[in-house]
Amino acid sequence: MISYNSKKDKYAFDKDKINFFINVGLIMTNKCNLNCTFCCDPPKLSENFSLEKEKLFIDKLAKSGIKKVCITGGEPLLNNDLLEVLKYLKQKEVCVTLYTNGLILDEEKIQSVKPYIDNIRFSILGGASTHDSLTQHTGSFEKVLSGIRLAKTFSIPVVATMPVLKKNISELIETVLLCESEGVEKFYIYSLMNRGRAKDLHGHQHISYNKINAELVLAKELLEKNLAKLEVGLVDWDVSGQCVLVYPTGDVLAVINGHNNEGTIKLGNLNEDSAKDLWEKYPFKEEYLAYYKKR
Ligand code: SF4
Repeated sequence: MISYNSKKDKYAFDKDKINFFINVGLIMTNKCNLNCTFCCDPPKLSENFSLEKEKLFIDKLAKSGIKKVCITGGEPLLNNDLLEVLKYLKQKEVCVTLYTNGLILDEEKIQSVKPYIDNIRFSILGGASTHDSLTQHTGSFEKVLSGIRLAKTFSIPVVATMPVLKKNISELIETVLLCESEGVEKFYIYSLMNRGRAKDLHGHQHISYNKINAELVLAKELLEKNLAKLEVGLVDWDVSGQCVLVYPTGDVLAVINGHNNEGTIKLGNLNEDSAKDLWEKYPFKEEYLAYYKKR
């Protein structure tokens, strides 16, 4: 009914036969060890995570038919229960992307998560100085690079993402080429979200889909000319409903970039609702399925 290629982070399915969320972001923690200026879900002081509750949410998602989750945060490696969650997802036959900023990723950690994840995702924000300036952390670019290399050493497929803004659009092509040379399998670029801390940047740094796409066409031509293996995709966050997030409280939110003050809409809570019921009522099914279809 649905297949997932973890190397290319690609889904194949018949749209008419899908009656569940294919993939959601599982927020593992509110904490983060970075302070990125473009963060759309800035870390909070409170921490609501409970392993018991998380397993309940996973049960509900698995029962609904979900294919994959993206483990995110905050920084998911800061959650001491991460391994237990990954093991539980494996038990439930749910594919996993681990989305990390790479700051505390080391050989021991990657070895421990490897049996339970299908790929690993990093953000690369341009060259070293642009990356470090957007994360507000000197050395964070080097950490991502070593994270990619570590993942490749352990044969874990790597997905990279880059939010494109005025500050880094001129570095898009060199970043694509860097990803190709580092053996990254899939590279997504996306427009700036209009929520969280990114809101402060949105007014003066946002670039339209068409402008980003024009740059992407050039990058693709270059990759083709070099017979590159890297696949590149574009996500337009101005289209609402493509991303669904599950918080440690059980709240399930859809991202509706800039359409209200929070940039999200609450769909329900997995303590009370089934994932299936939330899908039934989901107002953005078309946009959501179209997004996963073209990835
Ligand atoms: S963008 Fe990610 S890594 Fe950066 S502050 Fe936000 S949660 Fe942390």
